[in-house]
Amino acid sequence: MALNLVLIGPPGSGKGTQAVRLGAKYGIPHISTGDILRASVRDRTPLGQQVAATLASGALVSDELITDLVRERLARPDVSAGVVLDGFLRTLVQARALDEMLAAMPSSRTGPPSLPPSLIVLLVDVADEAIVGRLSRRRVCASCGITQSVSEDSDPQTDPCPYCGGALVRREDDEPGTVRRRLATYASLAEPITTLYRARPRFASVDGLRHPDEVTAALCGHIDQFRGLAASGPGR
Ligand code: AMP
Repeated sequence: MALNLVLIGPPGSGKGTQAVRLGAKYGIPHISTGDILRASVRDRTPLGQQVAATLASGALVSDELITDLVRERLARPDVSAGVVLDGFLRTLVQARALDEMLAAMPSSRTGPPSLPPSLIVLLVDVADEAIVGRLSRRRVCASCGITQSVSEDSDPQTDPCPYCGGALVRREDDEPGTVRRRLATYASLAEPITTLYRARPRFASVDGLRHPDEVTAALCGHIDQFRGLAASGPGR
């Protein structure tokens, strides 16, 4: 059966890093809606032109636009073994749309179409105060694309990417004012989503403030346990 993972958590919780690791470990594609949208802005596609101002402001793009984008992505054949979703989902409308999308995928069903599809939802939890500091130090290499954290005293003008020597840049939406808006948006929407998934058998929350390797180990522990459950019978 397909291994469908959804990582939720505030911006800056480290879920993007973890999603990449989980995709590599379990051999399933990592789909970041934020990465797809940023790439379309960078490449000035029609989608990019439509969403550029919203991304820069820290607000969310519409449920309709994002669910269409994810539905299209999930129609590609590389997701037959499963997928790691990062950044999707952020609203209850998106949560319901995802249930419908997965129910329509035969590889994701745990039983008859009337049963909700198999989905593992993992919350990477970090308090707001820690996030503003974290994101102010977050940089992305303009050359190799690796996301990393710089030290307080590093000089972004001169310190190159330690992996490839490229220039390190701050994401426009990591500016402190925008971060606070993104956190406020997250806080207003997260609660009902967490409540929805907490009531399902394949939900776990991990402390995102620990070392990234410990967070990965905790996430994998939950995933492997849930996969054991899946092997022993249908569920949600
Ligand atoms: P992220 O990299 O996940 O923080 O996403 C960056 C930006 O992309 C967000 O601030 C939103 O403007 C937009 N975005 C990404 N995923 C979604 C989503 N599921 N729903 C609405 N907007 C999204």
